[in-house]
Amino acid sequence: MNRVRAAAPSLAGLVPYDPKYLPAEAFLSANENPRDVDGELRELIGRRIAKVPLNRYPDPLAGGLRDMIAEANGLDRDHVLIGNGGDELLFNLALAWGGPGRTCLNFPPTFSVYAANARLTNTAVVDIARTEDFSIDEEAAFERLAVGDIDYVIVASPNNPTGLRCPQAFIERLLDATDALVMVDEAYFEFSRQTARPLLATHENLVILRTFSKAFSLAGVRLGYILANPAVIREFVKVRQPYSVDAVSQAVGEVVFEHRARFEPGIREIIEERGRVAEALRATPGIVPFPSDSNWILLRMEDAGEAWEYLYEHGVLVRDFSATPLLEGCLRVTMGTPEQNDRFISLLRAFVAERGSRRAQAARD
Ligand code: PMP
Repeated sequence: MNRVRAAAPSLAGLVPYDPKYLPAEAFLSANENPRDVDGELRELIGRRIAKVPLNRYPDPLAGGLRDMIAEANGLDRDHVLIGNGGDELLFNLALAWGGPGRTCLNFPPTFSVYAANARLTNTAVVDIARTEDFSIDEEAAFERLAVGDIDYVIVASPNNPTGLRCPQAFIERLLDATDALVMVDEAYFEFSRQTARPLLATHENLVILRTFSKAFSLAGVRLGYILANPAVIREFVKVRQPYSVDAVSQAVGEVVFEHRARFEPGIREIIEERGRVAEALRATPGIVPFPSDSNWILLRMEDAGEAWEYLYEHGVLVRDFSATPLLEGCLRVTMGTPEQNDRFISLLRAFVAERGSRRAQAARD
């Protein structure tokens, strides 16, 4: 056997991203939309896909979709870039604004992909931990930015996995305080109904990330986009792979974006369910749900790992964050259909009750 020389040293000890997907009856673990694209829209998608030339390379910059998104946001096409999911654009951010000798500012606990991309691109990461209620320690952030060595900042709004959006006033102050590129990750903004988009007109250092994976039920298709000023978009274009957004995805995205109003009732249902589930959790002894502007709820409880097992054994997959610093005892549950949510609540209550009676029994023994 030939030997193979070692991969890049930066990969040593690196653990690939694991979405912790397991077979289950109810997937409440990945913040997807519980409702797939409806039948009528599928028909339209099918018809559009049938016309896509499969022997030709796709339009590298997905012009059709790019124009639709630009128009919907009151921008020109040179303010928009489509990517192979938000994930590709997050990686492109690290490629374009990170690299050896460069530094990013991160606010954990947050989406773990930000730090992973920094590591892969040999970008230094400065972490400013969130406070106990998971808000950003704003003064610490400004103090650190004042040093002047931060090249890019990522703020998720709403923040995954904690749930709340970032105050608009902080984003504005941040953009004013630094010339670092500030990425506001709005993957879930349809559920929070708040966007930093108006700030694009006044701040050259803003880039906004959005995705088709959540509100538009297209996690399986891989489409995301950024909104930014043309000079920023031009740098992203330099690092991207030319054909990362395939022709079939472009066609699907165009049909779905054209009919995006159809997703409104589903979004409203998720927002309503979020309120209902949070109330049920608050009424369950020993469960502390955190407020959420998104399509999930983070909760804290004793024996979270055991609760995860119990839920999973009964067909409900949620995400266990209890091993993540600052998220001890935390589980994240994505809002499913009302029936899935009911099942989740009743299982969690059954777990708490069984544990209570086990403890009472142990105290008597
Ligand atoms: N940002 C955040 C905060 C996310 O949670 C996700 C998906 N988990 C993404 C970006 C990327 O989503 P996608 O690649 O599916 O567009």
